[in-house]
Amino acid sequence: MTWGDEGMKATGTCGECGVPLGIASNLNWNANGTITQKGDPRHRLVFFESDNLDRLWNRLSQILGVTTEHIWEVVIGSKSRATRAFLHRTLPWGVSFLAHFVGYRSMIKTIESQGLVMGYGKITVGGQYPRRGRPERVTVYIEDPYSLPFFCGDFKGAAEVLEKRWAGIDWQALDSRRHQVDVTMREARLEDESFMLREEIAGKPGDMGYELCGTCGTPLDLRQFTWDLEAGIIRDSRSGRRLAFFGTAGMLAVFDELVHELGERVIDAVIEVERENALAALSVEEARSGYQGLRYLAAIRGLGLISSLEMEGDRLTLRMSNPSLPGYIVGLAVAVFELVSGRRGKPAWSIEPDTDLYVEITPA
Ligand SMILES: [Zn+2]
Repeated sequence: MTWGDEGMKATGTCGECGVPLGIASNLNWNANGTITQKGDPRHRLVFFESDNLDRLWNRLSQILGVTTEHIWEVVIGSKSRATRAFLHRTLPWGVSFLAHFVGYRSMIKTIESQGLVMGYGKITVGGQYPRRGRPERVTVYIEDPYSLPFFCGDFKGAAEVLEKRWAGIDWQALDSRRHQVDVTMREARLEDESFMLREEIAGKPGDMGYELCGTCGTPLDLRQFTWDLEAGIIRDSRSGRRLAFFGTAGMLAVFDELVHELGERVIDAVIEVERENALAALSVEEARSGYQGLRYLAAIRGLGLISSLEMEGDRLTLRMSNPSLPGYIVGLAVAVFELVSGRRGKPAWSIEPDTDLYVEITPA
């Protein structure tokens, strides 16, 4: 989302295909299987089932044997780091200029309209204390968040970039759908290091072609999704499932942090949870749609570009360039194997020297 975008403009929709203009003007669907921010190819996103996110955090805490509170802490910390890196790179003017002349209300307006078009839920401004000058505390409300810890991380990171100071975050449920989130500025200033994040441009070219809307330029197949721009909820009109656009850097930062702390078994857990999610979400018809069908399905969601997919006897092999979230993709491949073969699958996978992901699934 471009800073200073008017909410009205971003949440207007294309008269031809119905996709919000905030999506059309900010995101590119690339031929190499990626979705990226216009003008910032390092900021990569996936368009994915979002109910899986909070389920992922819960299942990870069960499988890894750590508390949900701890997983949330890691998620919020890692997500805020990714948000700081992204905003630090893309803010058009000096950050202090924004903080003082544009201010929080405008920042939150931007977050609000971004939330509506990206599927994050309905965000509203609570207020700031003190009312004028440098805020010590800022409050927002979010209704039907796509993932509460991801939202908290985004909001914390945005406040930290604006103030160049660390922030603390608190949240409380107001009812079953609404949450109050407070960010409190701390004294300690951010070091330059705190804006850094390992992010690489997906380097491999590709040949994925989309039929594009003649008016707004997004893939016409996005018509399959419905945007409720009052509630900030995107749904797949076929499956009824909710989706959102979220940055892969934030996800990878969460996984990296957990691996650092708990070891490689974290990735095995991610694969297992994503296998469960995909078994619930994918239809047998989709799983059986073969190379062309799955290649398209993966690319339009920004997961990467499948360059080969073979299922022979009781073995499935898959190669993908520019893989977004390797653990997710391996879990998806296991689910495809299981839906097609009717047998439990066991994955082996590697990132090849040319950065491709190679996956092999055999019966467990
Ligand atoms: Zn359009």
